[in-house]
Amino acid sequence: MELSPYYEKQVECIHCKKKFKSMKVRSNFVKVKENASDFQPIYENDVTPFLYNVFVCEHCGFSFTEDFTKYFAPGTKEAINEKITSHWKKHDFSGERTISDALQAYKLALVCGSLKREKHITQAGLALRIAWLYRTLQKREQEMRFMEIAREQYLEAYSAEDYAGTSMSELRVLYLIAELSRRIGDSKQAIRYFSRVIEKQRLFNEPKIIEMAKDSWQQMRYEKESVAN
Ligand SMILES: [Zn+2]
Repeated sequence: MELSPYYEKQVECIHCKKKFKSMKVRSNFVKVKENASDFQPIYENDVTPFLYNVFVCEHCGFSFTEDFTKYFAPGTKEAINEKITSHWKKHDFSGERTISDALQAYKLALVCGSLKREKHITQAGLALRIAWLYRTLQKREQEMRFMEIAREQYLEAYSAEDYAGTSMSELRVLYLIAELSRRIGDSKQAIRYFSRVIEKQRLFNEPKIIEMAKDSWQQMRYEKESVAN
């Protein structure tokens, strides 16, 4: 019997507490060839683990990732019941996902994250992955729209410092603000934040990020010169 790259995971909804199944990818099937300049992983095979990051509760519609906290601030559960659960028609996301299934799941999670007032760093990560999915579909306008939402959320995360205790370091947050600004054509913000990354390089042992920041900054200068000439 050939081993499938996928396995079923039993998940408990953090909102209604009911159980449902969701697919995950076995880690030994994950082969990252390279990462784009905004960390989008490019895989060697068709197995794309981040399509399965969002758990969509089939019972109440609440959609979340492992990054969501279990705590619901006062009033947020009521808002979720009103805006999500009362309209929810049973929809099953438990099988293999197409890009468009994943887009639906991520968009639900972004709405739920906002209603729950989830950390900005978590909301930023959701918006960035939506942008990657649109990039895969070559839907440029939507890709830009969600990169902009991600950039705003990373700015909020940076000022609230709510990335503390997550896998995102301060340097990575600054770098992503810069790189997303560059990609959406906001060169002023891009330059401001790339220079912050370079200024802080001695404080962090993340040479790869510094190198990526220098490359992107160089590319911006090059593009500017080719426009001028
Ligand atoms: Zn639920």
